[in-house]
Amino acid sequence: MSDKIIINDMRIFAKHGVFDFEKQNGQEFRIDCVLATDLRCAGVSDDLEKTVNYAEVCELINKITISKSYNLLEALAEKICEEILLTYKSIFSVELTVLKTQAPIDIAHESIGISITRSRHIAHLSIGSNLGDSDSYLNFAIAELGKNKHTRVTKVSSFHVTEPYGGVEQPDFLNAALEIETLLTPCELLEFTSSIENSAGRTRDIHWGPRTLDIDIIFYDDVIMSEQRLTIPHIEAHKRFFVLEPLCEIAPYKIHPILKKSISQLCEIEETE
Ligand code: AMP
Repeated sequence: MSDKIIINDMRIFAKHGVFDFEKQNGQEFRIDCVLATDLRCAGVSDDLEKTVNYAEVCELINKITISKSYNLLEALAEKICEEILLTYKSIFSVELTVLKTQAPIDIAHESIGISITRSRHIAHLSIGSNLGDSDSYLNFAIAELGKNKHTRVTKVSSFHVTEPYGGVEQPDFLNAALEIETLLTPCELLEFTSSIENSAGRTRDIHWGPRTLDIDIIFYDDVIMSEQRLTIPHIEAHKRFFVLEPLCEIAPYKIHPILKKSISQLCEIEETE
């Protein structure tokens, strides 16, 4: 998406800074904001209702900037980006620059500041359960994901009964796939999904053993990452038919960013093996 709304050099008097004198005296802040959003409909209809009203966005930025005193420009910028993305669902990303005109340094300067970009992300999750009322546990996961203001469940597959994986004798699983839109980072999302597993009474006694609720992050945009606690794409997903089959219902054309094959192709390969 290359369409953008550009707000340049807003000037707002406010009281942010680590030092007391910055909080007492205040200074002028300069803010640039670039909003990525689809402008085609507004372009062909010439209708203000079909675009993001930049006057409202400026008002929102102004309100956030003057209503509270932050120590750091980082915190102010984070709050502005978050509120814009929460308020305007049609904005994909916000690029924000915040400059101080009187930074607390002795060297002459025009301004000093920061620039951040925050976006919506699409993640695909696999959920499963084979202990207790599995149907309720999957619905619980979907409801909890929807309660977080930073996450919206956008697609839900049907629930599939599947045989257990990993050689442990245990009841059949109920599995499903979800697509979510999120403002969380991958690690924040993992923390959130782990907290939902814990609220569902999840224990980790046996590896690949029975569980009330398991939530795996399969994809996060086209991110490829491997950290101590998190590997994306999920390292086993492409070998698990119980992950691929429900996922194929909601994202058949999603391309695995490493294997460069669609979910529907991976599903076919696994089904025939
Ligand atoms: P399990 O609940 O048995 O699926 O294993 C969860 C553990 O795997 C968690 O402690 C995570 O830190 C780790 N993990 C690594 N990559 C992922 C991922 N993509 N999604 C969920 N958990 C992951």
